Amino acid sequence: MIWPALVALLCSAALAGCSFEAEQEVWEISGPVFGTQYHVKVVLTDDEGRLEDLAGGITGTLEDVDEAMSTWREDSELSRFNSHEQQGDWFPVSDPLFEVLAEAQRISQLSDGAFDITVGPVVNLWGFGPEARPDQVPEDDLLATRLANTGYEKLELNASDKAIRSDDPLYLDLSAIGKGYAVDAVARYLKDAGIDAFLVEIGGEVNAKGRKPDGDVWRLAIEKPVSRERTVQRIVALENRAMATSGDYRNYYEADGKRYSHTIDPATGRPIKHRLASVSVIAEDSMTADALATTFNVMGEERGYTFAVQHDIAAYFIFRGENGFESKYTPAFSSYLMD
Ligand code: ADP
Ligand code: MG
Repeated sequence: MIWPALVALLCSAALAGCSFEAEQEVWEISGPVFGTQYHVKVVLTDDEGRLEDLAGGITGTLEDVDEAMSTWREDSELSRFNSHEQQGDWFPVSDPLFEVLAEAQRISQLSDGAFDITVGPVVNLWGFGPEARPDQVPEDDLLATRLANTGYEKLELNASDKAIRSDDPLYLDLSAIGKGYAVDAVARYLKDAGIDAFLVEIGGEVNAKGRKPDGDVWRLAIEKPVSRERTVQRIVALENRAMATSGDYRNYYEADGKRYSHTIDPATGRPIKHRLASVSVIAEDSMTADALATTFNVMGEERGYTFAVQHDIAAYFIFRGENGFESKYTPAFSSYLMD
């Protein structure tokens, strides 16, 4: 995921409601964010002025998230910690940043380090962060040096003071959880603004609340994991739930005929290499779904599936089997499938 400077625009406010339910319609607000797009659908009565206010509120909410946790801007709160020489001193952070860091650490513990936000220096070395992409695969000794400065246990959190510290020099990367948090932040903003039904989506992470004006639940597609085209694998119905999808089929680079994923296995410092092509996770909030999707990508479809079943997580895996793409899903996922 990329987080360049945020320039959000109100692109469209298109009417897509149904004609016989006169009062309530679905309105769309979209624009660029974090190097991808956000799409928001809100159910409300015909009111152009209201829509403009909401668009402004959404943009402001996304800007706040970017200012707190982007590694793509030097002035973000997170970048200030990352460039801070005295990381041994307690560094106070804002409530939103603390919330994301605490959830990241929870998932790291749960997954025994498969998810790890301290893997940032290694992500950058492989060219998936703000550093320039290397022309060749990183040297072993450079990789080992960078890997030595990673490990989620090295990051200490103080929940009562909302502060963080570390004895080792750390560089934190929230790319695998921040987009999900941003979706939740927009959802929270809309709820506070009195909107009862909406769908918020940023680059594949979604949060759905309430229902459409005709009483139907929001339906979302799990795509087939091919980069050339967008085709539907399965349809899921979401009501007051969030879904995140993580896969190696869009963000990767090729060198010497090999494909390198942007998901790094923290145990080796190398991009993951296994049969899993995409995984979708449904959870109460997007932040958790986002982080778990990356976690399962690191684990692969076998370990990931066992882990998801054990922890009663709704997850849908698409992997490269002997006869092309195959899929499997956990019992918790089945109730969301439409067909
Ligand atoms: P996806 O949609 O494939 O999950 P994300 O943008 O959510 O992609 O997350 C991928 C990003 O997460 C990478 O670009 C990198 O910055 C970061 N990352 C890579 N590996 C890990 C990991 N094991 N734990 C946490 N973050 C990671
Ligand atoms: Mg993710």
